[in-house]
Amino acid sequence: MTYPKTERTLVIIKPDGIQRTLIGEIIKRYERVGIKLVAIKMLLPTEEKVEKHYLLDPSWKKNVGEKSIASYEKKGITPPSTDPIAVGNMVVEKLKKYFTCGPVIAMVWEGAHVVEVVRKITGGTEPRSTDVGTIRGDFVLDSYIMADTDDRAIRNLIHASGTVDESAAEIALWFTPNEIIEYSLIQEQILYDVNIDGVLE
Ligand code: ADP
Ligand code: MG
Repeated sequence: MTYPKTERTLVIIKPDGIQRTLIGEIIKRYERVGIKLVAIKMLLPTEEKVEKHYLLDPSWKKNVGEKSIASYEKKGITPPSTDPIAVGNMVVEKLKKYFTCGPVIAMVWEGAHVVEVVRKITGGTEPRSTDVGTIRGDFVLDSYIMADTDDRAIRNLIHASGTVDESAAEIALWFTPNEIIEYSLIQEQILYDVNIDGVLE
């Protein structure tokens, strides 16, 4: 088995993350685990871009709907809709509004298991129920019920790719190859080298 040290993932600090002045805090959380920032930019996304981004994965609509319905059922509440695709369609429209209300920061992070590690640090979709210690769990309190009541997207500060395949397609949508910089960090020796040489003089 191998572990590609050059696995990459897309992270977007959503407009609420910028407005909450959490840019530094969010970057710090990823940086300190040992992964490498290889691309970063601030931009104003278009609605077309947001729609394209979420529809890259053909199963996303159904998954997002099922997740949302399950969260209501877990609390013993009847969900606003029981059709996952219908929920998915509504969520895309809400996401278009959410992502275009202000600047976002798009980043590419690189390292071993980076997709999984970034998702772990980010936390689950619903800040209300996700773990303390994750970014979403520590810095925001939004919920499915709040978002549905106010007919808007769940404000959870960050987007992070869900799988390695998803990340490749998402990175290609947000960055051109020449915006991604290949370089080494000194710390990669201690993170990845088989032997730790050259520490003692
Ligand atoms: P994640 O961002 O955790 O991967 P999804 O890909 O399932 O979550 O959904 C994308 C984004 O859509 C979420 O981060 C959240 O902002 C929003 N969202 C998901 N489900 C709902 C919902 N039922 N109502 C409102 N917004 C939602
Ligand atoms: Mg997702």
